Amino acid sequence: MSICFPKLVEAAILTSLLAYSPMELRIRNITKTYANGVKALSNVNLTIPAGMYGLLGPNGAGKSTLMRTLATLQEPDEGTITLGNLDVLNQKAEVRQTLGYLPQEFGVYPKVSAEELLDYFAVLKGITRRALRREVVESLLRQTNLWEVRRQRLGGYSGGMRQRFGVAVALLGNPKLLIVDEPTAGLDPAERVRFLNLLSELGESSVVILSTHIVADVSELCTHMAIINQGKILLEADPLRAVASLQGKIWRKLIDKHALASQSAEHKIISAKLLSGRTLVHAYSPENPGGGFEPVEPDLEDVYFSTMTGHYAPAQQQPEREEANV
Ligand code: ADP
Repeated sequence: MSICFPKLVEAAILTSLLAYSPMELRIRNITKTYANGVKALSNVNLTIPAGMYGLLGPNGAGKSTLMRTLATLQEPDEGTITLGNLDVLNQKAEVRQTLGYLPQEFGVYPKVSAEELLDYFAVLKGITRRALRREVVESLLRQTNLWEVRRQRLGGYSGGMRQRFGVAVALLGNPKLLIVDEPTAGLDPAERVRFLNLLSELGESSVVILSTHIVADVSELCTHMAIINQGKILLEADPLRAVASLQGKIWRKLIDKHALASQSAEHKIISAKLLSGRTLVHAYSPENPGGGFEPVEPDLEDVYFSTMTGHYAPAQQQPEREEANV
């Protein structure tokens, strides 16, 4: 059975669909050079949908500069950023109302308890009604698994507990944009797993950006990702599709560590790690490279290293898509 709309209604529906702006962060042509001449961001273009988004890159790549810019804490030299209908660079107060930001390092008042400090930040966020505030604080402390230790002083918290407290603060006021900068650096493996589980439970209606230099953080959590190096976006991709597109192109071999230089001269070596005193190398090659290499199932590390070494530049790479996704 088909439904017939009068022409005018049809036109109205079409217009409203076209005008519908999903919660999406659009970064266009963002450039930043610091006073010392370091070009930290170079013409960055990204379209970040709701859900978990991984921004992956080595130290010094420009991740924090981009995160601080998105968090309205510093100005770019050029470019525009929109979050839904908000102009991020010109409507800072409105953006801050709906922003949660967990920076790489943040101080806590060591003598205050988690419950007291969260209550205080809730007041700052504008949650002034006491009963509502009590509810919000309790719910966040439970969500971050800090309820049992809510009365302990923050100075006695472990690194992982402090990070989870940071998430509780960042989640105050149900942000539409949550920025988490290098959250797992310095956590022990158990704390890291607990922290990633917490992030994975966050709502899918918000944009959550996780900046990290740890490939596993992205492969375990994110549905979309970008790789950044020296201020430039090298790849924007869906992690699973990027891994699938390397199928049949990654090869491995155990070599003596002294042979690394000669192997690198002969093959497109993308990574080398120690394994029981020998060196395990991965090479990129669309065909069998011979020389004793055997095929290996690619993973996101292979995507990362082949992108960083310039051997992988697929079609998903930084499309020029000004206003393409209407
Ligand atoms: P990441 O977060 O990926 O480690 P950053 O954004 O912190 O990268 O840094 C990118 C580059 O900009 C680095 O070369 C860094 O040394 C430089 N940089 C960062 N902040 C400043 C600053 N305030 N002044 C000058 N240079 C800076």
